[in-house]
Amino acid sequence: YVDKGVSNLTGEHIKKLKVADVKSMPIVISEGQSVYDGIVTLFLEDVGTIYVVKDGYLSGVVSRKDLLKNAMGKNDLEAIPIDVVMTRLSHIIYVEEHTSVYEAMAKIINYQVDSLPVVKKVITDGKELLEVVGRFSKTNIAKLFLEMAEGK
Ligand code: ADP
Repeated sequence: YVDKGVSNLTGEHIKKLKVADVKSMPIVISEGQSVYDGIVTLFLEDVGTIYVVKDGYLSGVVSRKDLLKNAMGKNDLEAIPIDVVMTRLSHIIYVEEHTSVYEAMAKIINYQVDSLPVVKKVITDGKELLEVVGRFSKTNIAKLFLEMAEGK
């Protein structure tokens, strides 16, 4: 239903755009903070996903559902560390600033997540660490399409 010429132009534009062009500020919390702190951060910052850092580097992702799951039981939310409920580093899907918006969109759809941390790889003592420099979410995608529709 979309005109082929127009949709190809859109596709080419999205492949040329980089994550750096559309990313948002990341909202982070430190390992050792509690599930309660995570919920407060989620509300105060008005985001759906929080990134967890340890010594300043990415160690986990916490989503709305991760927090809800723990809030449903009779748990003392201030006593549960956030790292107990987060998705751990080895399972995290991320992008870098030079990743194309096209590739980032495909990751969000294929892995069925709402957002991807934007990271910068840092090598320290031969170990690769991920510095969190942004957030790429479904909202960024929606904003991009709105701007394109408005001819910006
Ligand atoms: P919600 O929980 O609000 O539906 P998501 O669909 O983004 O939000 O999260 C679903 C699950 O995937 C959660 O357990 C969350 O920790 C995890 N998750 C979220 N984002 C990522 C990501 N970028 N990489 C890996 N796992 C993620």
